[in-house]
Amino acid sequence: MMTGKEYIESLRKLNLEVYFMGKKITRVADEPMFQPHIHTAAMTYELAHDPEYEAIMTAHSHLDGAKINRFTHIHHSIDDLVKKVRMMRLLGQKTGTCFQRCVGLDALNALYCTTYDMDQKNGTAYHQAFRVFLAQVQQKDLMSAGAMTDPRGDRSLRPSQQKNPNAYLHISKRTKDGIIVKGAKAHITGVINSHEIVALPTRAMGADDADFAVAFAVPVDAPGIRYIFSRQTNDSRRLESPLDAGNPKYAIVGGEAIIVFDNVFVPWERVFMAGEHEFCGSLVETFAGYHRSNYGGCKVGLADVVIGASHWIADAHGVAKASHIVDKLTDMIALAETCWSCSLACSYEGHKTPSGAYNINPMLANVTKLNITQMVYEWMRIAQDIAGGKIITLPAEKDLDLPEIGEILRECFRGKEGVAVDDIFKMLRLVENMSVGAGLPEAMHGAGSPAAQKIMIARRSGIERKRQYAETVAGILKDEKFETIVGMPEKEYWDDVRAKIPKKD
Ligand code: SF4
Repeated sequence: MMTGKEYIESLRKLNLEVYFMGKKITRVADEPMFQPHIHTAAMTYELAHDPEYEAIMTAHSHLDGAKINRFTHIHHSIDDLVKKVRMMRLLGQKTGTCFQRCVGLDALNALYCTTYDMDQKNGTAYHQAFRVFLAQVQQKDLMSAGAMTDPRGDRSLRPSQQKNPNAYLHISKRTKDGIIVKGAKAHITGVINSHEIVALPTRAMGADDADFAVAFAVPVDAPGIRYIFSRQTNDSRRLESPLDAGNPKYAIVGGEAIIVFDNVFVPWERVFMAGEHEFCGSLVETFAGYHRSNYGGCKVGLADVVIGASHWIADAHGVAKASHIVDKLTDMIALAETCWSCSLACSYEGHKTPSGAYNINPMLANVTKLNITQMVYEWMRIAQDIAGGKIITLPAEKDLDLPEIGEILRECFRGKEGVAVDDIFKMLRLVENMSVGAGLPEAMHGAGSPAAQKIMIARRSGIERKRQYAETVAGILKDEKFETIVGMPEKEYWDDVRAKIPKKD
């Protein structure tokens, strides 16, 4: 397993072509704008070496029994699923942001299950190829970026109906050695500081879409791949002043990029789906389920940070014990623990798949993510309420440093005796960073937008069964248990009851 430092060093060996703010960047590991995202991903490596977190952060490979970072593990028990979400909460607490590596972990697990199912049905050999790739990921402790979302063009049209074929990543050519892929993937978390891209289809596909039904792995610096890194709220502050940035070490959300694939060659041993359109739906659903189950872990870790910040700010201003503050903090905690309960429930209600890997409970995973799309906004709203208007009116660090007004400003923002004004600034900026910026829409749309979760919840709701419950309780359907309890058919029972009701004169 790599340490955090070794991971950063490993990025220096990669030769990427990244564009950001009109500039071409090739040395990702040394680009100042990317540093916080790299530090956050490095934490997924570093914590695996801490004996305190070893049980959560590491696992034993089912392939060769070696001790590996849990971010490369295929879940093989309920305990694995539970430890995965514990790991997510822990990393959220340590970084206060998205630590990126889970998308690749979920892509690995989804492909493990689906390639097995494909081979069983079609007699293909994808699963064995995938196991060979997985062994490399585990042995080298690689960070994989799961790449699912396509640009999608006109969303009323299927991939094969699009005027622009590059609206969906697709196979442009097949050769005896492999496939050539063309198109793009959008919003890909952590990809510029990963080692491998693990690409998956983005939706269910039909027979006409077979060329778009493609899954594979390529090194991030494979020829023909370019990246365009996305902007984030207040991102340039990190280059201006650490105090103004809010979370200068780890930043805000995961660092997303568009990946452009311009006729990229993928050898057959790294291809895990090439035309099996009938498996796209289950692959997407399996990946989405794994990823949605995470959100009550990582986002609740972030909630722990923002709840701590809210209490700190209230305390620094002498109101930590005020009943309305205690009440608000309690609401935040209850909301966060509700989401945590959801993630735990997904894991404890998990099941073994035919591949031997364990999957979460998909209904509960979708409920988890749907709750997150609402409850993160609610606890961040309360954090803003407690922090006060200062989070949007603070002056810049540079003004604090001006000899003519710096001291006056410090006096304006002083709180309780003994609390450093700079620390008050740091904490208010942290709440600003976490509650005003990109973290909120990320909670809404990451792992799929709320409508996607509602479709899955409706599809799995078992509404017919619920109707039967209602019909049985209402006395429309035969209630065998009731008849056993009363010792006679229900009709006879009610005739008997009616006969005993005294007649009115
Ligand atoms: Fe991981 Fe959460 Fe970031 Fe998704 S949003 S990659 S689950 S930390």
